[in-house]
Amino acid sequence: MIVVRCKNCNTEVRSSSYGNPCGCDNMTTVKNDLITAKDLSLVEVISGLSKRKISDDYQYLTKEDLSWMEQRKSRKIKKLDFEVR
Ligand SMILES: [Zn+2]
Repeated sequence: MIVVRCKNCNTEVRSSSYGNPCGCDNMTTVKNDLITAKDLSLVEVISGLSKRKISDDYQYLTKEDLSWMEQRKSRKIKKLDFEVR
């Protein structure tokens, strides 16, 4: 059982096979083990899963990965510059 809370309307949303939205504009919905919402930053996971299973996690991870890669890249470039000198 996944339980999340929509911070926008303060409603607890429990997982169901049909997906019951919280009722506000954010449309916080838990369908089986998939959490969807217009703004997932307004969704607080109370119990039932790790944040990895949030449906928008892919975007989140991509953003994280990108910044991580950029950091690595800039670090590498700095290192290269250093070595060239
Ligand atoms: Zn809501």
